[in-house]
Amino acid sequence: MRLPFFSKKSQTAIDPVCQMVVDTGSPPGGSSEYQGTTYYFCAPGCKHHFDQEPEKHLSA
Ligand SMILES: [Zn+2]
Repeated sequence: MRLPFFSKKSQTAIDPVCQMVVDTGSPPGGSSEYQGTTYYFCAPGCKHHFDQEPEKHLSA
């Protein structure tokens, strides 16, 4: 048997604010680029927090 959740090509990333898994194909909270890396968010609120203090979330 195959695991349906991992059989597709969609990729995921970890929301740096809340550590949730986000589909990079259609991130609910959009994405932000910081220092050459793109980050994805589960909700607009998380993106807002990241945009305010990106280093705070990345160093955690
Ligand atoms: Zn989030």
